[in-house]
Amino acid sequence: MAKKSTRSAKAKKSTRSAKSATPSRAAETSAAAPTPPPMHRTCGTMEVHNRLLELHPEYRAALGRLEMATSARIAARTALTATKVTIPVVVHVVFRTNEENISDQQVQSEIDALNKDYSATNPDKSHVPSVWSGLVVDTMIRFALAKKDPSGKPTNGITRTQTTATTFPQDDSVKSSAQGGQDAWPSDKYLNIWVCSLGGGLLGYAQFPGGPATTDGVVILNKAFGTVGSAAPPFGLGRSATHEIGHWLNLRHIWGDTEDCSGTDFVDDTPNAQLPNFGKPVFPHVSCSNGPNGDMFMNYMDYVDDDTMVMFTAGQVARMQATLAGPRSSIVTMAAALTS
Ligand SMILES: [Zn+2]
Repeated sequence: MAKKSTRSAKAKKSTRSAKSATPSRAAETSAAAPTPPPMHRTCGTMEVHNRLLELHPEYRAALGRLEMATSARIAARTALTATKVTIPVVVHVVFRTNEENISDQQVQSEIDALNKDYSATNPDKSHVPSVWSGLVVDTMIRFALAKKDPSGKPTNGITRTQTTATTFPQDDSVKSSAQGGQDAWPSDKYLNIWVCSLGGGLLGYAQFPGGPATTDGVVILNKAFGTVGSAAPPFGLGRSATHEIGHWLNLRHIWGDTEDCSGTDFVDDTPNAQLPNFGKPVFPHVSCSNGPNGDMFMNYMDYVDDDTMVMFTAGQVARMQATLAGPRSSIVTMAAALTS
């Protein structure tokens, strides 16, 4: 079945948050009740993608090259590698209140969750319907907090930056020290993860491969990061990062980001689906003539709750591995030196 891509190049304008809040205003805000996590998953990756397409012509070209390399790799059946890689991660905790300054333990709990999900050893993969259980494979991708910083000094892989910003929009300002956030570590060596309070009800956003180095990485809402501390249901199992790092490795949303069945996630073994699924759907949920099994809503690249997303497919793993063999190959080269 033809899954064709018809994406809008329109990017929504982001509005900056009140970063210039005066100390008294900030104190007022911190006395208020903490903001609850969003009710439903929303990710800002496609808006970031559309913004980059408009602003950086070379980004479109880089993505095109990666798409061709990925297709060639899959056609040659060299897609799945047996070589494990551990990606060096730096987590930038950007906080205004004590609650936002999440603990080292909460950060490590996210790394542990990622390693379960990316190795397909998450116990809840038993929820995958039997018709699709054969598609679940180990990505061979692992994550570890960096042990060396960009200057070669020992580090715990966590930076902490105090800010006056109440929330950050998806305009990449959290990735800039000059804008109240924290500058990226070199993205050819590290996966940068920024953890902060995000505005607009977002759980996170990522940058696909091929974009500017200074903004390369993923941003995750602090209350949806890790599995302990301030991480809270329905997003308390660390899966917002599983989803966003999927984007960072070139995975698309499983419904293809259109509303009329014409979009594609460029993966053959995921059913064509019309719209995102939210919450905790019941199998099967049929759309786009994809019966009897319907949407693969239990995939990490849908919009369901953390306890409902449990799998990547072999086709998605092939895309991620092609990204690590292509535009992110330098991170693989440096990985062992920075994580041991
Ligand atoms: Zn997403």
